[in-house]
Amino acid sequence: MSDKTYPPSAELAASAHINAEKYDEMYAASIADPDAFWDEQGKRLDWIKPYTKVKNTSFEPGNIDIKWYEDGTLNVAANCIDRHLETRGDQTAIIFEPDDPAEESQYITYKELHKSVCRMANILEDLGVRKGDRVVLYLPMIPEAAYAMLACARIGAIHSIVFAGFSPDALAARVNGSDAKVIITADYAPRGGRKTPLKSNADEALLHCKDSVKCLVVKRTGGQTTWVDGRDFDYNELALEADEYSKPAEMNAEDPLFILYTSGSTGQPKGVVHCTGGYLVYASMTQEIVFDYKEGDIFWCTADVGWVTGHSYIVYGPLANGATTIMFEGVPTYPDAGRFWAVCEKHKVNQFYTAPTAIRALMGQGTEWVEKYDLSDLRILGSVGEPINPEAWNWYNDVVGKGKCPIVDTWWQTETGGHMMTPLPGAHALKPGSAMKPFFGVKTVVLDPHTGEEIEGNGVEGVLCIADSWPSQMRTVWGDHERFEKTYFSDYKGYYFAGDGCRRDEDGDYWITGRVDDVINVSGHRMGTAEVESALVAHAKVAEAAVVGYPHDIKGQGIYCYVTLMNDVEPTEELRKELRTWVRTEIGPIAAPDLIQWSPGLPKTRSGKIMRRILRKIAEDDFGALGDTSTLADPSVVDDLIENRMNRQ
Ligand code: ATP
Ligand code: MG
Repeated sequence: MSDKTYPPSAELAASAHINAEKYDEMYAASIADPDAFWDEQGKRLDWIKPYTKVKNTSFEPGNIDIKWYEDGTLNVAANCIDRHLETRGDQTAIIFEPDDPAEESQYITYKELHKSVCRMANILEDLGVRKGDRVVLYLPMIPEAAYAMLACARIGAIHSIVFAGFSPDALAARVNGSDAKVIITADYAPRGGRKTPLKSNADEALLHCKDSVKCLVVKRTGGQTTWVDGRDFDYNELALEADEYSKPAEMNAEDPLFILYTSGSTGQPKGVVHCTGGYLVYASMTQEIVFDYKEGDIFWCTADVGWVTGHSYIVYGPLANGATTIMFEGVPTYPDAGRFWAVCEKHKVNQFYTAPTAIRALMGQGTEWVEKYDLSDLRILGSVGEPINPEAWNWYNDVVGKGKCPIVDTWWQTETGGHMMTPLPGAHALKPGSAMKPFFGVKTVVLDPHTGEEIEGNGVEGVLCIADSWPSQMRTVWGDHERFEKTYFSDYKGYYFAGDGCRRDEDGDYWITGRVDDVINVSGHRMGTAEVESALVAHAKVAEAAVVGYPHDIKGQGIYCYVTLMNDVEPTEELRKELRTWVRTEIGPIAAPDLIQWSPGLPKTRSGKIMRRILRKIAEDDFGALGDTSTLADPSVVDDLIENRMNRQ
């Protein structure tokens, strides 16, 4: 939308892991000879038995089969901890920042991490967990969540994390779906000053699970819980007795490491399976290169470990690289809208990685919350989860980064395990709102949605697909390989179909235009939702916007806009008119909103993404069938939109 670009400073281009020439050279090599490229990258890890084969993958219909480093063996926990002990045993591995800023931060060294993970591994083994068994984690963002993940990895159990904000029903469904042997939970989860009773939620879930499922309970607040002898086990008590050493299991590169469900933005969540070798190679490489991570940096990804971002960029990627990673238990606005920046100042954060939903929320609170804090250690900023509107990008860049921190807008998915498209800080001239370039080894293509043919050249738009495998690609949907094939490989044969649309601009840079399901067709013009939303958000009185199509007699589909205004702005007919004219001038007459509904809140997933499928139903007056709402953060928002839908005009 804006033509302004932000090239890396000469200093950064010189010091960064990757500069422009190196990107071009390495990218070309990664596509020309993936075996050689990933053979070299595999050396990032310590292997018990080195691999002799690198890539063995097929996107052929009826035979979707993905294997990387298939004859190698290794252990993920040993790679994330043990191999660092000699060189950095006393370095902080994890900084724990509690929800309540009055509570002290914890600094956990690699040596301490090793002991805690070994203890947890032994406790799990005593509870009967063996290689290949499933363990469900339902925990706050506390160090024990990382211990539990790594303990599973250490003994070869497969973890499946359920975000602590999910209901007992969702928890039970995921325990049963993977036939898990153990749930690891905590008494309570403090978040934003409130305390969720996790153990009592788990109790409720367990009523709907097999009697043999055990529950390991971590003490977080010390609050009261009910106890079922023989089923419930006290982690803190057992940890006192547990042995401080546990031998890492020898795992095949293709053994599953974890199951994780997608966010549920477009429908029922999918149980994504990631494996041991390729996943860790890719998580390690992207954490280092994309954030230009250097020895000694303090790395903060604000996601929850309940999402893939937390898996790859709080735990596995940073720890594989021997980094210091922050685990933050709280929310951006508690106790006030300065919390993120207070934490950045306190721990001298160098890389900061968050989601557009947080940036938009903080943007509405004013710049004074940011300006109060010393952010001079920040070097790199990151964004993930949704398209970042240029307006939010500019605020992030100017107010948080003071114009000196490159923003890596990383496009990827639960399914991809790691970053797929992103600018690299020392290599690319950033464009606000653009995911820029494919990462090494990622063969991005734009397809014509009707013919399925590749669209060559620049200045083109279509469906985003990936033409070949990469090491951290999901291997299957848990227990449903057919759904895997059907969801990702059946619409466009021979390609991985991401479900998103994109544009490749005149310079060959990529822009995510939104979900393919959300594309609007107005009088024969196909339009992504991201562009219209960004235009609305660019208006000074608009805080957030979501755009969907609805049946329109003349145009086929009309443009329906849900608009959240800034805190102190009154919705008026005049403003409605003004917004129509605004979008018309920003994009063109074809994009002018047909209906605008004032929306104090928008329905979002618990990971903070707008659920347009629900908005589409409301726009179509079809709210009998809203689909899977199990991942919806606040159902009252939907009721309110339905009730007040007549304020659309
Ligand atoms: P579900 O697959 O269950 O509908 P989901 O797609 O939201 O949920 P995730 O895997 O958490 O589940 O999210 C991946 C999606 O998030 C991508 O397909 C894309 O639509 C969006 N996304 C992530 N990062 C970016 C980004 N930087 N720019 C634009 N979109 C992004
Ligand atoms: Mg998805």
